[in-house]
Amino acid sequence: MNFKKSQKLYTKGLKNLVGAVNSPVRAFASVGGNPLFIKRAKGSTIIDVDNNRYVDLVLSYGPMILGHRHKKVQRAINKALKNGYSFGASTQNEIKLAKIVCDAFPSMDKVRFVNSGTEAVLSGIRLARAFTGKDKIIKFSGCYHGHQDALLVAAGSGLATLSLPGSKGVPEGAVKNTLIATYNDLDSVKRHFEEHDDIAGVIIEPVGGNMGVVIPQNNFLKELKVFLESKDALLIADEVMTGFRSKFGGAQELFDVEADITCLGKVIGGGFPVGAYGARNEIMEMVAPLGGMYQAGTLSGNPIAMAGGISTLTELKRQDPYQQFEEVGKQIETILLAAAEKYNVDLTVNRFGSMLNPFFTNVKVTNFEEAQSSDTEKFGVFFWEMIKNGVFLPPSQFEAWFLSSAITEEDLAKIEKAVNKAMEKVA
Ligand code: PLP
Repeated sequence: MNFKKSQKLYTKGLKNLVGAVNSPVRAFASVGGNPLFIKRAKGSTIIDVDNNRYVDLVLSYGPMILGHRHKKVQRAINKALKNGYSFGASTQNEIKLAKIVCDAFPSMDKVRFVNSGTEAVLSGIRLARAFTGKDKIIKFSGCYHGHQDALLVAAGSGLATLSLPGSKGVPEGAVKNTLIATYNDLDSVKRHFEEHDDIAGVIIEPVGGNMGVVIPQNNFLKELKVFLESKDALLIADEVMTGFRSKFGGAQELFDVEADITCLGKVIGGGFPVGAYGARNEIMEMVAPLGGMYQAGTLSGNPIAMAGGISTLTELKRQDPYQQFEEVGKQIETILLAAAEKYNVDLTVNRFGSMLNPFFTNVKVTNFEEAQSSDTEKFGVFFWEMIKNGVFLPPSQFEAWFLSSAITEEDLAKIEKAVNKAMEKVA
């Protein structure tokens, strides 16, 4: 396997693109090496410009839940393209996608479409503040909610990958209303409420996916919701990653918890730029043009993106792949643990349905601090050996691996072989 063309494009890209990428984690900075450039993808396979073929466990960081270029999605997009790309006026498909989303999430009567997960969350936070009349928001360390100023503190994803505590350029004033708690630790939330009486709500990834995969323990989400109700504060579920992935109705369906405000992205666009935030009527009526919370977007509800979302979610509902995800996920988890045992490598695998990742530690990982105990150098060695053996992983210890319903038995055999080689190299 060689990466000559990728290397060439990387050098060329450096001239006019920062790090030759448009999102930091794509730079492969923490695994030592340069980014791969992709030519095309189909089903469970992604192919780089040097014609190297990989089983894709990145899936564009989650959206491609049906695999790449599913024929029904492709057909819907082709059809939509014939009618025009953007109108700045309403279309029937916005109503259709809104109904699919609201039917799937009982906590949402209404939804507003935006263009990214970041936009969904920043609007959801604004809405929480507008509805409660309070300013402070609690977030959990290791959770990532997009790159809005207020939440770029103690964040996971690319910041964790690059070991950044926060972002330069974020003024103190922008984070003065952000409070940090520890995932899976309700007392750390309660302590903030003892000190502050102006907390609008708590934002959470109901399954952490940006510090590696971290699963809510016991009844954490339910107890959090009950506690917040007692304080007249809102639960803001950032289901950008888990929405339609953990279950059709997201982590809320799986854990039987109703959020006050829900933020979505990734899967709901099927690979096109879509985000959404929604809530019950009394909260959504705060949003302009009904209420005084302003939020807008030139390309919001874009007709091509709506067609991508409708076709993806319709096919997802038809396939109902959640049992398959559970079984395939379990197989990969077993492969990882068996290889770790064989080569005597400390490994903790966290998995939640179709999201998983290995931590190179013997510590049980339930929060960001524990996730950071992983040996990231070992992850780097593991990562490159997986690449060389044809498995495309996120180039970071702190990003989840994702499964699509397009994965095959052949892919699993390739993953098993690669994992064994990679673990041998790590040992
Ligand atoms: N929220 C979560 C949980 C995410 O995982 C992400 C992105 O990875 C975001 C928000 C931001 O979404 P986007 O990258 O589409 O702006």
